[in-house]
Amino acid sequence: MREPSPLIDPEEKALRPRKLEEFVGERPFLQNLRIFLQAARARKEPLDHTLFYGPPGLGKTTLAHIIAYEMGTRLFTTSGPALQRPGDLAGLLTQLDTGDILFIDEIHRLHPSIEEYLYSAMEDYRLDIVLDSGPHARTLQLQLRPFTLVGATTRLGLLTAPLVARFGISIHVEYYSQAELAQIVQRSARLLQIPIKEEAAWAIARRSRGTPRTANRLLRRVRDFAQVANEPAITGAFAEKALTSLQIDPAGLEEIDKKLLITLVDRFGGGPTGLQTLAIAVGEEPDTLEEVYEPYLIMEGFLERTPRGRRALPRTYAHLGRSGPQHTLFG
Ligand code: ADP
Repeated sequence: MREPSPLIDPEEKALRPRKLEEFVGERPFLQNLRIFLQAARARKEPLDHTLFYGPPGLGKTTLAHIIAYEMGTRLFTTSGPALQRPGDLAGLLTQLDTGDILFIDEIHRLHPSIEEYLYSAMEDYRLDIVLDSGPHARTLQLQLRPFTLVGATTRLGLLTAPLVARFGISIHVEYYSQAELAQIVQRSARLLQIPIKEEAAWAIARRSRGTPRTANRLLRRVRDFAQVANEPAITGAFAEKALTSLQIDPAGLEEIDKKLLITLVDRFGGGPTGLQTLAIAVGEEPDTLEEVYEPYLIMEGFLERTPRGRRALPRTYAHLGRSGPQHTLFG
């Protein structure tokens, strides 16, 4: 299931932390980012180009906005697929004042020719646009003001090495623990004025697949149930009932997670099965499985990566209600 876009959802936008101190979670990278921001501000220089990578819904866009807030500069947003021609990029870059942030979401989907233009823009704040072609070709050189490029991607593996090398700061945003998600649910409930008991926040957190965006979405669906039932405050038992009615998987797994596990167990006897084979069987790209879906399943003990391929772990069998693999004499 695809998550709704945060851009067209004003309530989701209202829940987005604005400052670094509002960003929930104890992440080592937060300490570092705080220092980089402080140092850049003290030097009165733009922050180094920054890349955020990790699965969707974990706060990459939020962090781009936070950087602009903390630096006291403006943020311009675009995405890899939106930049079709060099002119699109030039139009954006020439608008930027010193220290402004250009946020490129889904930067792995940049057209290679646009990516080439970015290199000199990032390195020397210069844009060399080639006008015309053949014997009449001329180069127009545009000098840019020092800016910060913030890139976000769910698929680090698809970025080219020269692009990755031009980011001075590179941050892996990882899944959240249930305690962190429960904290996010409580914060969101406070902002949306939804009375909720702590155990209800945990019930939602457990089904949020380590993802704040999912936690916020589930909170709002449970709120609908509470509103219709005239429930003054959401209790743990009420949340459990609502989540069951919503047919949310008890471990928060999405359709593609379940498809992957069922395929691995039912068609391949639990593995080990190579990534390519598994990807074809579930109709996804290998990179997407590897970078978007597998990390959570591995972290939660559903799956393991072995040198011979992916193997289902006992939690998968228990979760799917299947009996474990048939062991042979050889293992
Ligand atoms: P991404 O860009 O990685 O897909 P977003 O930055 O759009 O994710 O985050 C999705 C939503 O999750 C945000 O609107 C915000 O409300 C919430 N969120 C993400 N990270 C945090 C966090 N650390 N603390 C509180 N809320 C968060």
